Amino acid sequence: MMIKDNLKRIEATLKPGVRLVAVSKYQPIAALQEAYDAGQRAFGESHVQELVVKHEALPKDVEWHFIGHLQTNKVKYMASFVSLIHSVDSLKLLKEINKQALKAGRVIDVLLQLHVAAEETKFGLTQHEVVEMLESDDFIALKNVRVVGLMAMATNTEDEEQVAMEFESVRQFYHVLKDGYFSGKPEFKEISMGMSGDYLIAQKYESTLVRVGSSIFGERIYE
Ligand SMILES: *Cc1c(COP(=O)(O)O)cnc(C)c1O
Repeated sequence: MMIKDNLKRIEATLKPGVRLVAVSKYQPIAALQEAYDAGQRAFGESHVQELVVKHEALPKDVEWHFIGHLQTNKVKYMASFVSLIHSVDSLKLLKEINKQALKAGRVIDVLLQLHVAAEETKFGLTQHEVVEMLESDDFIALKNVRVVGLMAMATNTEDEEQVAMEFESVRQFYHVLKDGYFSGKPEFKEISMGMSGDYLIAQKYESTLVRVGSSIFGERIYE
């Protein structure tokens, strides 16, 4: 099936207000261009080097989302153009994003990545760590980052009930923060959750950004 058809088919299943981030990691530039030509503008990448190359190659109105685990020493390469960093999992990283955003003369939007999956390997913060971070003086001093929501990855399992439970925990915590720490901050409005295998479930739990890769582009070829 063609990328354009896949995009159309997926778009048709999205609730109003849910945006599709096309996860294009490991995909060739021609595949991104095909998606772009079909009208897709938000793309998600998980490796900084690859992101930089693709940013150079694609038209300038592409919205680049960084969704992978991010090392502090790589932030500088994308600080001038990244639209949204989904994967903030430490205060140290947030401070570095702030520093590089300041240098680039801009404010960078970020999501805080919550750890909800049962797997050990998934990165992210606990709810307690999020609260601790938000209340720290170090965080309050950061003027060039803007926290616009939460991101999470569910356990990679066929058990839809477990996935739903994990997404529900994110939804609940999002509202706790929205009514508490972020009350009066309308920019705190995003929940990034759902991938090819579980974005239909994620939508039921108020996801606003779904990160879909293989259902659009086909299986990734890792080299
Ligand atoms: C690769 C990736 C996706 C997309 O996964 P698919 O199963 O191909 O849709 C979504 N989110 C993150 C964080 C990823 O690394």
